[in-house]
Amino acid sequence: MKSIVMGGGVIGITTAWYLAQEGHQVTVLERREETGLETSFQNGALLAPGHSQAWASPAAPKTLIKSLFQDDPVLRFRIRTEPEFWRWGIEFLRNCTAEKYRENTLRIMRVMKYGIEQLRVLRDKTGIEYDGNDKGILYLFRTQRTLEHGVAAWNLLKEHGLPLEEVTREQCVGIEPALGVSKEKIAGGMYAPMDGAGDALIFTRNLAKLCRGKGVDIRLNTAVTGLKREGDRITGVRTDKGDLDADCFVLALGLESPELARSVGVRLPIYPIKGYTMNVSTRGYNGAPTVGIIEEDNLVAFARLGDKLRVGGKAEFAGYDKSYSPDQYKGVFKVARDLFPQGADYANPTYYACLRPVTPGGPPILGPTRYRNLHVNAGHGAAGWTMACGASRAVVDVIAGRKPEIDMEGLTLARN
Ligand SMILES: Cc1cc2nc3c(=O)[nH]c(=O)nc-3n(C[C@H](O)[C@H](O)[C@H](O)COP(=O)(O)OP(=O)(O)OC[C@H]3O[C@@H](n4cnc5c(N)ncnc54)[C@H](O)[C@@H]3O)c2cc1C
Repeated sequence: MKSIVMGGGVIGITTAWYLAQEGHQVTVLERREETGLETSFQNGALLAPGHSQAWASPAAPKTLIKSLFQDDPVLRFRIRTEPEFWRWGIEFLRNCTAEKYRENTLRIMRVMKYGIEQLRVLRDKTGIEYDGNDKGILYLFRTQRTLEHGVAAWNLLKEHGLPLEEVTREQCVGIEPALGVSKEKIAGGMYAPMDGAGDALIFTRNLAKLCRGKGVDIRLNTAVTGLKREGDRITGVRTDKGDLDADCFVLALGLESPELARSVGVRLPIYPIKGYTMNVSTRGYNGAPTVGIIEEDNLVAFARLGDKLRVGGKAEFAGYDKSYSPDQYKGVFKVARDLFPQGADYANPTYYACLRPVTPGGPPILGPTRYRNLHVNAGHGAAGWTMACGASRAVVDVIAGRKPEIDMEGLTLARN
């Protein structure tokens, strides 16, 4: 069977890998000069099923409105004029009930947990390197009030089988000794031993190499410009390098997926939410964490990648704008210096900003469309690196006519 995967981010490359395992003759089409140069390039680097909570929650509308009046909020909501912003926004608000929050959180957790399990299966099978560690993630809270609130939110995940432990301040230091210098600044945390960290870009590039070794044709500098259809089938793709035919097509263009899908009448409600990350060198510093950390009061994430510390945060409604300036990292620096004063060379950061492809409720869109041979693997939001192997494995199971190992309820286009 000839298959075309559109997009060479972490999602497209993992899809290509599992299709190749099925014996498909796979071609990946990527518009950039290399794989992984968009959202998968420098994300938060955390493999974090412990952070499965949906963003659409009963508390979200109030937080969004408050942010309109704040100077440098963690979540910056700005009203935009594009019609897609309004459609997406209305659907987001519809997902802000307690019932929907619970449903969406459990769906996200299902894919994230399966994602990390499948990533480890793939790693054990191939020996792939990605500067990774399996040391877990500590979710830290600054005050007793936020800790109590956090424990209540995390209990939903715990009750549904995610390994999580509530830990005292002293236990936090036991798990991550680098917190010794700042322990008075935290009230306690939740520890997720299953979680981990790793560089999505290195993984994507190394998996692309393994894919090539299995005969996958990865065509770089090739932009998909359209889809050809006949009745309920897609017959080919149009690219800036000519047309290509195949039997099966997977849409994994990240944020660009909705536009191409729309051209054949398929609506994918995916909208960008911007985030900021930086790399700082830990060479010559002895106070950086080796365990993944998310400081929950300000939502600042830390991942140790070899001799770098990846620090990231913020969620901004900025349309498709990916620009950044040092000014936007003030809050992130403040938390980094506060928790890990001797952690890294904070004077010489490498900045990056990228856009999370987010669905209104939070779960990604996986699997079939109204076209028998067009499948979607997109909209993984803030968790695409964690979900990649699980989401792609499930999509390929559907393509192969097998029942995926996870329940696909609420993960396909046919969601309520
Ligand atoms: C600030 C930030 C922090 C994050 N932190 C984490 C984290 O800690 N853990 C986690 O699990 N996830 C995290 N994420 C989410 C994760 O990075 C994304 O969900 C994931 O990278 C999405 O992968 P993708 O392959 O769908 O998209 P992309 O990586 O954007 O890939 C899509 C590819 O399609 C290509 N493309 C687009 N249009 C065309 C076209 N017309 N023709 C050909 N090619 C095209 C693009 O060039 C791109 O390479 C974070 C995201 C952000 C923004």
